[in-house]
Parts: sequence; C-alpha cells; structure tokens
Amino acid sequence: MASRATDVQARIEKLKQTIEHHNYQYYVLDSPQVSDGEYDQLFRQLVELEKEHPQFASLDSPTRRVGGEPQEGFSKVEHRAAMLSLANAFDEDELKAFQRRICKLLEVDEADYVSELKIDGVAVSLTYRDGLFVTGATRGNGTVGEDVTANLRTIRTIPLRLREEAELPSLVEVRGEVFLPLSEFDRINQQRSEEGLNLFANPRNMTAGTLRQLDSKVTASRLLSFFPYSIGHFEGVRFETQMEVLERISQWGFRVNPHLRHQSSIDDVIEFCRQWLPRRNSLDYEIDGIVIKVNRLDQQQLLGAVSREPRWAIAFKFPGQEATTKLLEIRINVGRTGALNPYAVLEPVKLSGVTIRTATLHNEDDIRRKDIRQGDTVIIKRAGDVIPQVVGPVTSLARGEKAFEYPRECPVCQAPVVREEGEAMAYCTNRLCPAQRLEALKHFVSRGAMDIRGLGPQTLEKLIELKLLESPSGLYSLTAEQIGQMEGFKEKSTANLLESIDQSRSRPFARVIFALGIRHVGETVAEMLADHFGNIESLMETTEEEIASIQGIGPEIAHSLRTHFEINENRRLVEELRQAGLQLEGIREAKEQEVVLQGKTFVLTGALPTLTRPEASQIIKRHGGKVTSSVSSKTDFLLAGEKAGSKLKKAESLGIRVISEEELRTMTGE
Ligand code: NAD
Repeated sequence: MASRATDVQARIEKLKQTIEHHNYQYYVLDSPQVSDGEYDQLFRQLVELEKEHPQFASLDSPTRRVGGEPQEGFSKVEHRAAMLSLANAFDEDELKAFQRRICKLLEVDEADYVSELKIDGVAVSLTYRDGLFVTGATRGNGTVGEDVTANLRTIRTIPLRLREEAELPSLVEVRGEVFLPLSEFDRINQQRSEEGLNLFANPRNMTAGTLRQLDSKVTASRLLSFFPYSIGHFEGVRFETQMEVLERISQWGFRVNPHLRHQSSIDDVIEFCRQWLPRRNSLDYEIDGIVIKVNRLDQQQLLGAVSREPRWAIAFKFPGQEATTKLLEIRINVGRTGALNPYAVLEPVKLSGVTIRTATLHNEDDIRRKDIRQGDTVIIKRAGDVIPQVVGPVTSLARGEKAFEYPRECPVCQAPVVREEGEAMAYCTNRLCPAQRLEALKHFVSRGAMDIRGLGPQTLEKLIELKLLESPSGLYSLTAEQIGQMEGFKEKSTANLLESIDQSRSRPFARVIFALGIRHVGETVAEMLADHFGNIESLMETTEEEIASIQGIGPEIAHSLRTHFEINENRRLVEELRQAGLQLEGIREAKEQEVVLQGKTFVLTGALPTLTRPEASQIIKRHGGKVTSSVSSKTDFLLAGEKAGSKLKKAESLGIRVISEEELRTMTGE
C-alpha cells in the first residue's frame, strides 16, 4: 500500500515537472515541443491523479495556475480582474456533465448559453479609461501580465478610442484574443524562408512572438487582428448578460466574431459544436474549439470560479489535428508521371483516432524551406481529412544530422532527374522506368479511369514480372493461358478478369483521356477535353494555344498535353489502344448546321479583325472542321487577317482558297 502511494506521488511529481517544462516552452519561449493534444492529455492525467489522491495535490501544481510567468524585458501590468483559463470538455458527455453541474448549483432545469468560437491566439486585456486606450497586457500568470501596449496599438481592429454610440464606461478591461489570419501567417513564413530565417510552427506561436516584439515596427509589419469576447473589471456601466456585453463591445467599435449563438438548451450547444467540427478549416484563422458560457451574469457570479477556471464556462476542444513524432527516414516514391514524391516514414503515432506511419513532404523546396532532416522530431498535422503532412521540425530538440539531399537520379531506374523551370516537382526522365510503368498501369485500370475490376497492384506487378505486360495496351491482348500462369488464377477467375478487361473497351472517351495519365490532366479536365475536341486526333494535333483557350484549362495543362503527344511512345500507345477497340471519340450528336465544315482543313494566319486565333479555331471545330499549323496541298482554306506573310504566299501558289473572318462567319452562320 505504502509503495503504491509512493508510486502515485512520484508520478504526480513527474507529471508536474513535465507540464511545467512544456508551459515554459509554450508560454515563455513560444516554442512548444509537443502538440496541444499531447499536452492536454498530460494535463488531464495530472488533474485525475490529484482528484483521486487529494493528499498529494499541492498549491504549486500547474493545475492551479494560469499560463506562464511574465517575461523579462516588459514592464508588468496587474489585471484588475483575474484572467482565467477554461475547463475543457473533450466530448458530448462532458458537455452534458457541465450542464448537470451548473443546473444543480443554480437549482434550475436548464440554463441560457452563449456559444462562441474558441480562437487559437493569445489572450490580452485592453484597459480603456474614459474611452481612451491606455494599457494593453498579455494574460501572463492570470494576475500579472506583460505590458505590450505599443504593439497592440499597431492592430487596426483595436480602437484607440471607444465610439460614443453606447454609454461609455469610466474604466473597462476589454478581453479578447489577438490572432494572425492564416493568409498572413503563410505570407510571413514564406518571406522568412526567402530570408533564410527559422519558420514559426503555427499561427499561435507567431502571434505570441509578434506580440512580444521589443520593436513595435516589426509588429506593425505583420497584420495581427483581434476578436473581443468579454470584459474584466468595469466601472460606470451595467450589464445583465454576456449577449449584452458583446453587443455593447461591438457598439464601442470592436469587431465581434460573427459566428456566435445564443442558445437555450445544451442539445443546441452540442449540435453547434458538431456543426463546427468539419467547418473549422473553412476560416482564415485557427480555432481549437467552442467556448460555452452561461449567459446571465448574475448566474455567472453565483457559480464563481475554482482555482484557475470559472465554473460558468467550458471549452469544447476539437480533437487535435497535430501530433509530434520522430521522422525516421525520408523516402521517394516515383509516380505514374515520373514525379519524385518525397514522403516521411514516421515512428507510428495516433492522430484523431488513426495511427499515422507516413506523411507527405510535398516537394524539394518545402523540405529545404522547413529544413526537415531525417532523425528530427517533427510536428505532423491532418487538415480536414486529407493525408497527413509534416508541418516542420521541433527546432528546440536535438536535430537530425544533415540536411536532406534530394536525389539527382531516379531511385528506381537511376535515370537522370529533371526539374523544369517553374515546376515544383522533379521528374524521372525515363519513360520506361519500371516504377512509372507500374504506376501508369495502376492508374489506367483504376476506378475513375478504365475501371478494370480484379486487377489490383499485386496482379499488375506479377504480370510485369512475368514479362506478360509492358504497357496498358498489352492488357487487351492477354490470353487465358497467360493469365493462368499466375498463382491463384483458376479458370473462373481468369474468365472474370478477361471479361472485365473486355468490358472496359466501352468506357467513354473522356475516361480514356484520363486513363492515359497525362501530367495535370484529371477527370474534370479530361471531360472538358473530350467535349471540346470530340476525338483523339484533334486533341493530338491541336496547338497549345487552342487548348489553353478552353475555359478552365490553363497554360500549364496545355503545355503538358502538347509535350505528352510529342513523345512517339505516347502516340504509339494511342494507336495500340485504337486497335484494341477503345473509344477514342466522343459520341456526339452533331447538329446539322454544325457539320458544314466537315472534313475541311483550315490554316490561320495574320491578325483577324475581331476574333483571336483560338476563338476562330473554336468556330471551325464547332462546325466539323480541322485546324492545322502549316499550309500544304491538304489545306482547304487559309483564314487570313492583316499582315499575313509566307503562309498567304504559299496558299496562293498552291491555289488554296483564302477567306476572311467575315467569310468564315457567313459560312458558319456565327
Ligand atoms: P485554453 O487555451 O484551453 O483556453 C482559455 C483561453 O481561451 C482563454 O484564455 C482565451 O485566450 C481563449 N479564448 C479563445 N476564444 C475565447 C472565447 N470566445 N471566450 C473565452 N476565451 C476564449 O487555455 P490556456 O490556459 O490558455 O492554455 C492551455 C492550452 O494551451 C492547453 O490546453 C494546450 O492546448 C495549450 N498549451 C500547449 C502547450 C504545449 O506545449 N503544446 C503548453 C501549454 C499550453
């Protein structure tokens, strides 16, 4: 028994030390070493142990104190009313327990609540005397904070004088959160990376660092913002509810966060929390939960506070989206377009209920900018439901040894790697690279593409290994005998596979374009291309300019398409797919008037009076014609504008009919 008690006491002491260490890193140095979720778990363990064993709960425990001590270098400001922290609720049951607790103490059946977004920034208290902003301070340890008035004056959403629209208090402490919009956070980090400076791990750390600048010019150069959410001490005014407080603050000239709700039942509060969970990433600032407050101030007073937290409010915390873990290795995966995608192999870690083992590293520049090294402790993040990404290294912990060297050769086939100007990714230059081949096949048979069921990655690998398959067109000449060579393929499964390969011949044209796996051409773009060009020849022969003229398709895609079809091997694949019987044209019911130029070939030259060249090409195509780039005996019409040069001469010498824009319009009725 005695030894168990000593164990508990030792655990409590250890937890206290660990939490104090993280408090110091977070509140004083603005450089956390663990994610908030991990910190919250440690904190919760300590709270529970102290509750179970009150004999070991001491007054110096972090569970009794707010924040961190004020930093040296700033004068100290004493808050007239204490700035407290908030108790947390991590699920709906805990919100219901909160409701039961307060209703019991107030002797009511239900309370009136205000739910507000919990802005993930830095709490400050702004003192106004007779309407004039006189002092602004951080929360500090809750009683004494740091004087950051000069820096707060640079924030445009903090009024230097209150508007007199509403009754002015003789003295008031307006409380709220200073934060950085995400767009501003990205901008500043980008700039810092260009200057070779350390990057901030998240907007909250950047906000804290910015607010504590000794030179307020630096603060002014970063566009901090402010949302008020309550008042501390006040004189010369009266309020009855939290809603009234917020309304009055807004009349004084502050911008109150618009997403608040006045609610009369805990079920409505729970619904509000549920709704915000998936919406949290839709804002231009970070929120880490919802704060629920009892609306009536007299009830708030009755409920009072326990050590560091008011009893009348609670923070519903969203599940953490960040975690820290060790980056074991940086590896490169070669994609179907040859892109070298870097990713991190991690020491497994739980994040929002899922075990994460790998995370994306985006590209070479990103790794360099964040100085991510193998062996680093890194913060990883899941934004929404997307693949986890590495936010950056925890720079205050022991670092990995040396900067990561991006490969100059493909890690699979050792061919040289190129990175074109303006491209973020580096590519393997070998079209026959086995990694690309496998990825290209996986893509070709995938759901949104040819949708060939029963042909998973392992079967594809096996087919390649047995030299039965080299490129997608090879699928269509596979025989039952060949498939039967693979382990696990009996008569029935072989017949099924052949059947699904055969069925894929009828997939629509757009799906075939997508299946080709052209860089930057996704499903939507493939559909737009199929609609516009109608058949693969027109798409293969067209100009970059024309592709780029299609609404929604940019020059990058146009360039990629052009380069794709310049490669003989890619053209050969199209030919083989045609022979295999795939759909290489759209089934379009052309209207009669649309085919007046059917089979006619046009060449464009000179500047047309009103149409651009892509517009003119579109008209021609719409009516069944074809546009090529040089004049030959196969040309039917030369559409010529002003300053037509050699093409006009050549057309005249070949006796080709030369027409103007006006004639084209007459021919097509457009
Ligand atoms: P808190 O951030 O959980 O909640 C209290 C704070 O919420 C208030 O002080 C206020 O600043 C803020 N807030 C935002 N919107 C509000 C609103 N509408 N109404 C009222 N308050 C609002 O508590 P805390 O004491 O500031 O900090 C504790 C938290 O900080 C921990 O739960 C953890 O997430 C984080 N932390 C992390 C580390 C770490 O090492 N990662 C260390 C210490 C603390």
